[in-house]
Amino acid sequence: MANPSLTDVVSALDVLYPPALAADWDAVGLVCGDPAEPVRSVLFAVDPVAVVVEEAIAHGVDLLVTHHPLFLRGTSTVAATTAKGRAVHRLIRAGIGLHVAHTNADHANPGVSDALADVLGLVDTRPLEPLPAPALDKVVVFVPEPDAEKLIDALAAAGAGELGDYARCAWSTPGVGTFLPRAGATPTVGLVGEVARVDETRVEMVFARVARSEVIEALQAAHPYEEPAFDVVELASWPGNEGTGRVGELSVPMTLRAFAALVGSALPATAGGGLVAGDLDHEVRRIAVCGGAGDAYLRQASTSGADVYVTADLRHHVVSEHLADGGCAVIDMPHWATEWPWLGDAAGRLRARLAERGTTVSTAVSTTPTDPWVARVHAEGREDPH
Ligand SMILES: [Zn+2]
Repeated sequence: MANPSLTDVVSALDVLYPPALAADWDAVGLVCGDPAEPVRSVLFAVDPVAVVVEEAIAHGVDLLVTHHPLFLRGTSTVAATTAKGRAVHRLIRAGIGLHVAHTNADHANPGVSDALADVLGLVDTRPLEPLPAPALDKVVVFVPEPDAEKLIDALAAAGAGELGDYARCAWSTPGVGTFLPRAGATPTVGLVGEVARVDETRVEMVFARVARSEVIEALQAAHPYEEPAFDVVELASWPGNEGTGRVGELSVPMTLRAFAALVGSALPATAGGGLVAGDLDHEVRRIAVCGGAGDAYLRQASTSGADVYVTADLRHHVVSEHLADGGCAVIDMPHWATEWPWLGDAAGRLRARLAERGTTVSTAVSTTPTDPWVARVHAEGREDPH
């Protein structure tokens, strides 16, 4: 199979991790690279730091995909006088593109926390903090009974009536429409100056709000009346299956002590290791996870009914107050380690997506820990202060 262009790879990544799902403060997408260049191989890594750039150069890849942005807050220089500028120079000189999938990969389903949930053996996962499902409208239209099926066809062709694996979903009920055509009207049914009563069908169809103008244009084009009567109703917002973190179940419950050991062995080793808060003998089954810094979702972890929350970058007061309020147990793992399982998952999904398009790339996953911590200090040889 042929190699895709960088444009093709970015398009495939954008389908898997839509940029529209990114937080508004985030900076995702292509940082450097020529869209027309072919891509033969891709390296996935958490951080676009110097050691990873050197790894990409050593592998001879054409594209580096990282979870964390190189420039989150913008910049006015890429001079090689800073670490970030040097990364840009090293990448461009080696002909390597850089693409970032950050909060869009966190929010997508499957995304970063799904990969974390998978390596911990969680099943029946759902978002810990769901984003609203895509907004929906409903159109209610009244049409002479013989024209109802044709109108449903036209609305379906414009995107209405899509429901999972079902298309052209509509609901209809018979009724009677009445109207008085005034002077100047050219009624399809009835006469000017006479009250008309017509057997009509009330048709209801749901559609994505983004398709509203297409659906209404199709309605007006297909409806036999000069002045079709219709309502457009905005449906209530509903939690979707995308969002931050995941909560799921272990198929076999175990003690917090055993689960902490499972977490430790499921994630890549780091110098910092993890920390556990809670009753080690307590049985845990429902598990909340959030790859990366997840301290903002401690409350959601508790209200989800989770027995334990696995995330990164937790602080003393936040955890202390969470536990004092009766919150669930907490396992604080290194940030890099909680996001690392996504790399292999994303690489596999990219290859599969490109294969559907008849192209292929080879992929590799960086195994260099880019957590900044290199050692954990213990008070060895000293009496336990407690
Ligand atoms: Zn992160």
